[in-house]
Amino acid sequence: MKPAPFAYHAPDQLDEVLALLGDHAHEVRLLAGGQSLVPMMNFRLAAPEVLVDIRRVDALRHVRREGDGTLAIGAGVRQSALLREPVVKAGWPLLTEGARHIGHPQVRSRGTVCGSLAHHDPTAELPALAVALDARMMLAAASGTREVPAREFFVSYYTAALEPGEMLLEVRFPPCPAGAGWCFKEVARRRGDFALVGVAALVEAGDDGSVSSARIVLCGVGERPFRALDAEEAVAAGASFEEAGRLVADAVRPVGSIHASAEYRRECAGVLAARALSEAWGRAGGS
Ligand SMILES: Cc1cc2nc3c(=O)[nH]c(=O)nc-3n(C[C@H](O)[C@H](O)[C@H](O)COP(=O)(O)OP(=O)(O)OC[C@H]3O[C@@H](n4cnc5c(N)ncnc54)[C@H](O)[C@@H]3O)c2cc1C
Repeated sequence: MKPAPFAYHAPDQLDEVLALLGDHAHEVRLLAGGQSLVPMMNFRLAAPEVLVDIRRVDALRHVRREGDGTLAIGAGVRQSALLREPVVKAGWPLLTEGARHIGHPQVRSRGTVCGSLAHHDPTAELPALAVALDARMMLAAASGTREVPAREFFVSYYTAALEPGEMLLEVRFPPCPAGAGWCFKEVARRRGDFALVGVAALVEAGDDGSVSSARIVLCGVGERPFRALDAEEAVAAGASFEEAGRLVADAVRPVGSIHASAEYRRECAGVLAARALSEAWGRAGGS
């Protein structure tokens, strides 16, 4: 199928993008990498009257470490940058490891980081990684900007906390705790497929050599990234990673689909969480 007719704009200034979003708030979509929007338009699951292509806006292409140590990634940055940029690989290796699971090189070299976050497929890796890393979403509209923490940004299936006329301008990742171990693991039917279940884990060691804190966030187990708070607390209190995995499996409420039953996803969630914690612990210097 072909998309329904639409007006196409490709401004090179951010002001123009925001003005177009403001003028057509209810019938406009941004075109970033097009890796989700174009198929949706071809299937007529989306039929925006106005498309605003942001690929010519140089001001959105930054990957930089700010003075306070925060990593800022603009709306024009491709997912492949997470695997390539030295600043990301050195300071946020969990992002690099997770991004390797996004589709194929062709998808990652067109799809954007912010496009994946704004699109919010609940099986996508980046929303779970953003929650695990306490990212902050910088939103902009013609009327001004605002900041939303990742834990509040992902509302439900394919829905993020964006108002009409608003765009995700930039995502900011605070510095990772020094010495924290990290791991991202997922199960997919084939390499490059969307995850059936994915787990991001961060683990910190205390002065006594035991786990002092853990962060566990999953994708593919519900309408938005799931943070396994009970399992995090249990690990910090001395529970084994296997026990934490059982707590994760008990806590998640996945929905079955033609790709995998709810029971299978639940089982995967527990096993992956235990394995991710164990690998993260090894990277934190634990034994
Ligand atoms: C074969 C294939 C395999 C894939 N596998 C995976 C996978 O394993 N994991 C995964 O996570 N993804 C996967 N994807 C999706 C891919 O990651 C997309 O790139 C991503 O979902 C959307 O990013 P985009 O830049 O392409 O956005 P687009 O497709 O251009 O836009 C998607 C939606 O987000 C909106 N949008 C985009 N940018 C912004 C912004 N800055 N502010 C507000 N709204 C915005 C658009 O208006 C649109 O509604 C796959 C895609 C394909 C084609």
